Amino acid sequence: MLIICDFDGTVSARDTNSHLARHFAPEASAALEGRLAARELSVRQVLQREFEGVTATLDEVLELALTIPLRAGFGEFLDAAHAGGHDVVLLSSGFRQVIEPMLEHGGVGGRVPLIANDIDFTGTAAGADITWRDLPTCPTCNEACKRHEVGEMRHEIRRGGARAHLVVFVGDGFSDRCGADVADRIFARDSLASWLDGQGVAWEAWDDFHDISEALGLTANAGA
Ligand SMILES: [Mg+2]
Ligand SMILES: [Zn+2]
Repeated sequence: MLIICDFDGTVSARDTNSHLARHFAPEASAALEGRLAARELSVRQVLQREFEGVTATLDEVLELALTIPLRAGFGEFLDAAHAGGHDVVLLSSGFRQVIEPMLEHGGVGGRVPLIANDIDFTGTAAGADITWRDLPTCPTCNEACKRHEVGEMRHEIRRGGARAHLVVFVGDGFSDRCGADVADRIFARDSLASWLDGQGVAWEAWDDFHDISEALGLTANAGA
């Protein structure tokens, strides 16, 4: 089994990027309110505009980011998944320089591969400088979304042969739509859950990672 997890608002208990933008770039953040939902701007355009307005240093950003806890049971979930021979990957539309310290702070640093973008908090009036990972534009949503990478990972494990081929996706928000769409089993919450309902796609509810471990039949000493 391959379990692909979003980070912001999924592993972290609230959406880190919105929280940081509201605090450090309140005007840009307020001006962008609703424009993603209305499909006027892409996920990347919104993050670009928000973080251009963030003149704080990385240390200042992390001081706030590290107050956001990880959802309960994530470390145990990783242990149980690995004990069962399953793979877990974090697939984020956010930023490595923020996520890695949060994972470290949450006691799970270096224990799960992370796919994310890069950001340089210059600490100057120029704002933060984002380097996006190279992704094709999705034919379904017209954005550089998660569909391509989930599809590639799915293809990889299917080539692997004997192991179970199930792809599980865990997410919460707008940027998870296309990734969830190509998974076999979806654990959703918040706006992802309501969007899936609208699409008539089945999903499973969860509150923390203990729920996901239980639903997937993962236990710390599993040999499955
Ligand atoms: Mg999210
Ligand atoms: Zn897409």
